[in-house]
Amino acid sequence: MIKTLSFITMLSLICLCSPDAVTATTWKPITELKKTPTQLEMLEKLPSGATLDWLFKMSRRGKESSHRQPLNLNEAYDEMSNFGGYVNLLTQDVVLDFDPETGFIDETLSITLEVNEDDTDKIPLSFPDHFEISEIKNDKGDAQEWSKSANTLIMYMEPPAKKGDILQFTMKASGTVICSNQGIKPCSFGGNYAYVTHADYYLQGSPIVLDMFQGSLQVSVPTGKQVVATGRLEEAVYGEENNSFRFVHDYETIYYSFAVADYQVSEELFEGIPIRVHTRQKDVQHHTEVLDVTRNILEFYTTEFSDFPFDDLDLVQMDKDFGGGYGPQSTVFMYSGTFDMDQEGWGGWGGSASRVQLISHEIAHQWWGNLVNMLEVNSVILSEGLAEFSSAFHWEKEYESRSNFISNGMNYIYTVPAEDDVPIGSAMVTQSYMYNTLAYDKASVVFDMLQHELGDDVFRNGMNEYVATFGYSAANLDSFFETMSAVSGVDLTTFKTQWVDGIGYPRILARSTQAKSDDGGWLLQISLDQVGEQVFTVHLPIQVTHMEDQRKEIIDTIVMDSKTTSATYRFDEPILRASVDPDRIYLHRIQSQDQGDPNLSGVADGSDLIDMAIMMHRNIVFGYGDSNYFYPNASYNSRFDLNQDGSINEDDIDLLIEGNETVGPNED
Ligand SMILES: [Zn+2]
Repeated sequence: MIKTLSFITMLSLICLCSPDAVTATTWKPITELKKTPTQLEMLEKLPSGATLDWLFKMSRRGKESSHRQPLNLNEAYDEMSNFGGYVNLLTQDVVLDFDPETGFIDETLSITLEVNEDDTDKIPLSFPDHFEISEIKNDKGDAQEWSKSANTLIMYMEPPAKKGDILQFTMKASGTVICSNQGIKPCSFGGNYAYVTHADYYLQGSPIVLDMFQGSLQVSVPTGKQVVATGRLEEAVYGEENNSFRFVHDYETIYYSFAVADYQVSEELFEGIPIRVHTRQKDVQHHTEVLDVTRNILEFYTTEFSDFPFDDLDLVQMDKDFGGGYGPQSTVFMYSGTFDMDQEGWGGWGGSASRVQLISHEIAHQWWGNLVNMLEVNSVILSEGLAEFSSAFHWEKEYESRSNFISNGMNYIYTVPAEDDVPIGSAMVTQSYMYNTLAYDKASVVFDMLQHELGDDVFRNGMNEYVATFGYSAANLDSFFETMSAVSGVDLTTFKTQWVDGIGYPRILARSTQAKSDDGGWLLQISLDQVGEQVFTVHLPIQVTHMEDQRKEIIDTIVMDSKTTSATYRFDEPILRASVDPDRIYLHRIQSQDQGDPNLSGVADGSDLIDMAIMMHRNIVFGYGDSNYFYPNASYNSRFDLNQDGSINEDDIDLLIEGNETVGPNED
């Protein structure tokens, strides 16, 4: 089995979900704007690719819950999300011809808007600078007055529109998509696969309002090609020269995305919901494996979070240089290797673990990012962090390994320089060059620490409530933590302050001593000291290994909320080893104060070298439960690998004990 997910994320290659566009210049946070002349002027002058800082300053908190609402234009629009701004974009129907060879798009856009303010004489919308608009008509079929500057399209209303007015426009435009490569390639053409994923070829609410809308996407391509897209396939027409595919988006979304290739499809039902895998012919033999993995993941998330939130799920193969995965609503796009890798394979990009982990991360986005959209730019961990958490959580439970969480935590601790660390709950995280390590890796561990502190059942109840409250709408970090706090009855202020709004992690010096007690038993004392300015609150499990039968046992959880903590435990028999946080739930660095005895066994011996090798991340195969998991690790040192199985672990310690019998408690 292989551990590659965090390896991939370290290379900034993985899985942009819908809100991942924060890494691209197309990001627009959801905003509640007050209409003032100053802001309108700013809107009109907004440069293409406005900086995130500026956008963030403009953002406001605003939420209006919406409910699952199939598209029905004859019904009132008041069930749809309205996060403010001048207008609320209600529906958008896109009909486009796409040339997979050149990337040229010729399209007609029909949109419906609700006006949010009285006296609205200008409506700003976002549309790419490099697309040419040939005409815009209003709902009466008259020419609409408009102007365009950079990525902002302004429509002029005469007379001004009133709050609550519903307006319709139809627009014709054309242009060639621009595929700048930022981790995940947003589009590609001219090869075996052509696609537009991070699409901005349609209208978005405004330069600063990330609006949710319903509608349809119709894509025409030359005969012989298939189109797979977000939304539900309603109609496919195979013609002499063109094939045309129409996808209906029954649920509010912020993105339409599509891919074009000579796809072959397999479908099965999961609890009545069609799940499909689309690959090129060469990988059709892998469809069953991918569907098996998908079903297992869906069963897990359905149990932990909620029913699958959409009406179908398409897993779509992309080119090998796609860069990872991307999970907009009801669809998962993944690089080709995800589908053709050897189920039992080892190494790099070619293993089953990375297949499972990539698919589970992307499918998790159907909940985190699509079902619950993120409301603000500083809430990106509610998409990426929760998706990565869900993937690592699935891996832990289904494959009995915490390796995903552990390596994610190590990535953060060992690769983010203190001076470059930024809070994962701030907008700065999206601009950091350590974005993936912070928003994915650290955040996944933070959610796992929260699960540890609340307990599995309470945490699950909290997640269920979070989905019930914010599903088919959007949430921010306060929404999340207020929900978890309300459900658990636990004040999470300190937790959020230190892990989400703060930076760093505790550095803990640990010491253990063992001595015979007056009554003939053994007393184990564990002392913990936090060094550094900030004192963290952590709930550290304490595990002992019994001398007699090597049995491991969690004996306590020490809640450490001060500089110094110590605890004493009595045993009938001597203890071989004591370990603080043996499953590495917390972000921390623990060092032993027992000189030469980092594993706190009471004596300094060869087992300390092995334990230290483990602590220093020197193994290349991480053992957990009955399974081993590969770590790409250049610092592996075979001298500590006594049984030479590629893994430095407690088997080596056991070998050492059998051979030398030098490990044991102090006898005095
Ligand atoms: Zn993601």
